[in-house]
Amino acid sequence: MSVLLDDMDGILFWTQIADLRVVSGCACGCPTVDFRSGPEEGLELVADAKVAGTDGDAVLLFARDGVLDRLEYMWVGGPPPTTWPSPDMLVEPRRPADVTLEVSD
Ligand SMILES: [Zn+2]
Repeated sequence: MSVLLDDMDGILFWTQIADLRVVSGCACGCPTVDFRSGPEEGLELVADAKVAGTDGDAVLLFARDGVLDRLEYMWVGGPPPTTWPSPDMLVEPRRPADVTLEVSD
């Protein structure tokens, strides 16, 4: 994730990374992890990147109320991936333009 955020210049979230703890994973076997428990509602996409050499796989970073909440692996076709792609595989990282970043410090 640090690579994703570095590439994104998403340093507003950088200070949260040291304190992130995985509280739950995904039951399907994919590497998606949650950093906070809670409802799905209110999650905002704050960063994403495509995975090179795939049919459209992507890594998605979500936050709720300015706090990092979930790192999700979205994949296209086939069984769930079981590991994260290497950071060098992440391409075209972006932060959606319509997301308002508000992080209180
Ligand atoms: Zn899953």
